[in-house]
Amino acid sequence: MSDTIRAVVQTGPRQLEMREFPRPVIGPDDGGLLRVEACGICGSDVEQYKGSMGGQWLPMVPGHEPLGIIEEVSDSAAARWGVRPGDRVAVEILIPCRSCDLCLAGRYMSCRHRIGSHGGSNPPERGLGPWGGFSEYIHLHPNAILHKVRGDIPAEVAVMFNPLGAGVRWAVHLGGVGLGDTVLILGAGQRGLAAVLAARTAGAGTIIVTGLGRDAGKLALAREFGADHTIDVEAEDTVARVLDITGGTGADIVLELTPMASQPVLDAIHAVRWGGRVVLAGLKGGRAVELPTDLLINKSLTVMGAFSVDSRAYAEAIRLIEAGRFPLARMHTHTFGLEDVARAIETLAGEVPGEDAVHVAIVPGT
Ligand SMILES: [Zn+2]
Ligand SMILES: [Zn+2]
Repeated sequence: MSDTIRAVVQTGPRQLEMREFPRPVIGPDDGGLLRVEACGICGSDVEQYKGSMGGQWLPMVPGHEPLGIIEEVSDSAAARWGVRPGDRVAVEILIPCRSCDLCLAGRYMSCRHRIGSHGGSNPPERGLGPWGGFSEYIHLHPNAILHKVRGDIPAEVAVMFNPLGAGVRWAVHLGGVGLGDTVLILGAGQRGLAAVLAARTAGAGTIIVTGLGRDAGKLALAREFGADHTIDVEAEDTVARVLDITGGTGADIVLELTPMASQPVLDAIHAVRWGGRVVLAGLKGGRAVELPTDLLINKSLTVMGAFSVDSRAYAEAIRLIEAGRFPLARMHTHTFGLEDVARAIETLAGEVPGEDAVHVAIVPGT
C-alpha cells in the first residue's frame, strides 16, 4: 500500500470532501490497520450527512458499519482480538475503555470513559483521523471491538452484520420473540426486513410488517423473507388490520422502527396485546411523543428503548450470515465507491428519483 490513505471527511451539512492522511505507524501499544472492503450505510448516516445530528464533532470521517481485512496489527492487539493479518473482521462503532464497572458488566455501550468511535463521534482532543469506514483504511484503536467473519462471503452480504445484528437484538433479545409469537414490525427498511428474518428464525408464528405506499418493493421483500401480512399504512388502518389478523387480541411483540413519525408509536401501543412488549428503536429527531400512559398501565405493557446493537447480537448475526440461511443478497440494492459517498447516502435517503434503495454499501475501489 502507499504511504497515504484516502478518506472521506465531512466538514458540514451535506459537505463531504476526499482527503489524504499519512499511513499510521502501528506501534506496540496501538491497534492496527484495516483495509476496508465494504461499509454499510444506515438511517443515521443520512441524519449525520444532513446535519441533523449536530455539527460539534466535525470534521470527521463517517462510516460506522465497516467490514475489512486486517492489514497490520500490533502483537498486543493481535492477542486481544485473536486475529492476524489477512483475517476478515467486522468493526463495532464504539471504542469503550474495556475496564470500568459498566464495561465489565457488559454495558460497554454506556462506558463511563468512552474513548471515541469508529465512524461516529469522537472527543475533540482526538483530533481528526481515519477512524471511520468511508476510507481506504481504518486506523483501529487498541480498544476497538472486532468480530471475525469468514472470508468467502461476498463483502456486500457480509457487511450486513450490522442491520441483521439490529434485527437479532431488537426482535429476539429485547422483544423476546419465541415460538408461535405474533410480531408486528412497524417500518420496512433494512432493519425491519432484518427483524423479519430474525423473528422467523426465532420461531415467530405470524409476522406483520408495515410500510408506506412507496415501500411496495420492500414490503414484497418482507413477504419473501417470511412476513405473513404486510400493511400499506397510507391505504389501511394499521391497528384495525392487526386486530383483525389476531382475532381482536393484538400482537405479542411490536417493534417500532420508523424514523421521525410519531403515529407509529401510538399504533404500537394500540396494536399490542394485553401484557405484550413494545420495543422502540425509531428515533424522532428529539421531538416528544405524547403517550396515553393509562393505556400502558391498563394493558400492563413492557415498553423498552433499543439503543444500537451489542456484541452478542453482532456475533449471532455473523453466525447466521455464515450459515447462509438467508437470501440476504436480495436486500442489497446499491454499491458505490468512495468518490460517491454523497450520492450513496442520498440514494438510501430516497432523494435520487427512480432509485428504490434497501441496503447500500460503500466499496472503496469500485
Ligand atoms: Zn448504522
Ligand atoms: Zn468502560
